[in-house]
Amino acid sequence: MLKEYRCEYCNKLFFKGDIKEATIEVKCRYCKNINLIKTVILLNDNQASYKRS
Ligand SMILES: [Zn+2]
Repeated sequence: MLKEYRCEYCNKLFFKGDIKEATIEVKCRYCKNINLIKTVILLNDNQASYKRS
């Protein structure tokens, strides 16, 4: 399932992707604002229980 990444100022679509963990700086070519896109991995139940053991 691809997530849509959009400009937070003018809502233009930058790209679609399935990103696990990244920090991406994108300059919007429509409104010229710089967006900082951060994605992080969310721990699921399996990983949390694995860490406890
Ligand atoms: Zn924009």
